[in-house]
Amino acid sequence: MSRGSRRPRGVTVKTPEQVAKMRLAGLVVARTLDRVVAAVRPGVTTGELDRIAEDSIRAEGAVPSFLGYGGFPGSLCTSAGAEVVHGIPGPRVVRDGELLSIDCGAVLDGWHGDAAVTVAVGDCGPELLALSAVTREALWAGIAAVRPGGRLSDVGHAVESVVTPHGYGLLDDYTGHGIGTSMHEPPYVPNQAPDGPGRGMVLTPGIVLAVEPMAVLGDPEVVVLDDDWTVVTRDGAQAAHWEHTVAVTADGPWVLTALDGGAHELGTQRRKEPVRAV
Ligand code: MG
Ligand code: MG
Repeated sequence: MSRGSRRPRGVTVKTPEQVAKMRLAGLVVARTLDRVVAAVRPGVTTGELDRIAEDSIRAEGAVPSFLGYGGFPGSLCTSAGAEVVHGIPGPRVVRDGELLSIDCGAVLDGWHGDAAVTVAVGDCGPELLALSAVTREALWAGIAAVRPGGRLSDVGHAVESVVTPHGYGLLDDYTGHGIGTSMHEPPYVPNQAPDGPGRGMVLTPGIVLAVEPMAVLGDPEVVVLDDDWTVVTRDGAQAAHWEHTVAVTADGPWVLTALDGGAHELGTQRRKEPVRAV
């Protein structure tokens, strides 16, 4: 093996049966995000969206994994306007013309799913729509790199190759992550690859990663608000954030938090779905 190709300590490799369980958790997240997104409109509060998410997750027999995580008080992270990630849901009213990132996590039978979408609220204008579309495109480019025989830095390289030419900033202190029986496991999954692709651990079937590019219009410098959670851009520029939980399989990436497993975006066949034991 070449230098740096070994798995860092703490990276877990799931069995196919465990990946199937993570798929079921991922589907809870996918369906919950659909329900929340359907309720987004100018004037809704992030607290109302959070209640929809918690009800959805619990109705599916799962538990909101964000709630109580490090003392976090919500089932979603809702980050609007200059908020990039980790916004706390509450009385904040979602306004026409801003981007809203909705990040959702659920744990089912001990296994985690984690995904985020960015929604354009009302009339956002072409500049913000492009930021969100490019960030989403970067997510899918990163996902396509989550394949057997690939290397960890291929993911960040794919993400930045989409984002950087547009002149957007990519947060470097906030990254994707491994995921399994904990929401956050090693390794970190950076959205950049300063040393290029082909570096870092080799991706093998059973490795599961959350890929989550965060891009901003302008300078990527961020600060954390006094609530100790909300990450905002220092210059007030708006941000976009997209995320999926992705398993490496022998057949390539399986997007556990996409309803179709990523088949449409990746141009692959739909996979046989696991059946949940009752
Ligand atoms: Mg997330
Ligand atoms: Mg995450």
